[in-house]
Amino acid sequence: MLSYQHAYHAGNHADILKHFVLTFVLKSLNKKENPYTFFDTHSGSGLYDLEDNRSLKTGEASCGIKKLLKALDDTPCFDFPDFLDYIDIVKTYAKKNLYPGSPLIERDFMRSQDFLILSELHPQEIENLRENINDSFYKKLEDSDFPSVMIHKRDGWEMLKALTPPHTKRGAVLIDPSYEESEDYELAAKTICEVFKKWSNGIFLLWYPLLAHRETEINSMLENIKSDVRRVNKNTEIVNLKLCVFDKDRHVEKSLDMVLSDEDKKNPPRLYGSGMIVINAPWKLKENGEKVVEFLKNVISFQSQEES
Ligand code: SAM
Repeated sequence: MLSYQHAYHAGNHADILKHFVLTFVLKSLNKKENPYTFFDTHSGSGLYDLEDNRSLKTGEASCGIKKLLKALDDTPCFDFPDFLDYIDIVKTYAKKNLYPGSPLIERDFMRSQDFLILSELHPQEIENLRENINDSFYKKLEDSDFPSVMIHKRDGWEMLKALTPPHTKRGAVLIDPSYEESEDYELAAKTICEVFKKWSNGIFLLWYPLLAHRETEINSMLENIKSDVRRVNKNTEIVNLKLCVFDKDRHVEKSLDMVLSDEDKKNPPRLYGSGMIVINAPWKLKENGEKVVEFLKNVISFQSQEES
């Protein structure tokens, strides 16, 4: 099933957490001169218009990145340097009312010696991705080169298993499924464990939703990943960052009231936050990531005091 469209959700709280962690990992890979390979298994279209009707309909960007950028304007002294790398790139696109998806963030942070491998299955999304990846307005500002980019219209799980370990040895993968099927939770754990066995120095980033009705699947996915990875190497650094922005049971009434139709309210979304689990996490991701999550909770969360 390919009915998910990221244009409805681009720039929401989940993108902020995911893309902050992504930039942190890319910066840490850039600290060494030798090349690396970055895989993005579920790429989406790479670039989103925040004035698009789909974005305006959900209001998710307004409660997410737009709210965050406004808060940062009012708090100029805010200084987590790792977080500001993410904010810098977002601000550049925001000048044109755009929000960069993961493939453009990767392309813009990577160097000419690196390799970026993207896969996407949706026919319209992949067409847009091809077009957007060739648009170079952010890089032109910095006058630097792109990495080599390969775009596959291919199942991301299959692509990752087929192309790892990469010839560069060094590298990372972002796995960002839409979780349209409940089997995706099991598939994510199975694929990561299979690939980790043959590429145990790769950095794995998995985004997952916090959904009240999927708690069992989510917890079992996280437990399976941790135990299988530690079976291969018990010292592997695993960091799990979670950003909760709504009260688990009450968020619809408290936040999205203005934008949900009566029909939507009968079947309210249950996404109250999201998480990023990172295997072979870079140095200081846990410490710095927790500070950023705390800051984000204060700025974009709708949680009541007693639950935050
Ligand atoms: N990673 C993107 C970002 O951060 O900007 C957003 C990706 S979106 C959450 C998930 C994407 O995965 C959708 O565009 C969907 O069409 C695509 N997709 C779903 N199943 C897939 C599969 N098996 N292989 C590759 N892409 C898939």
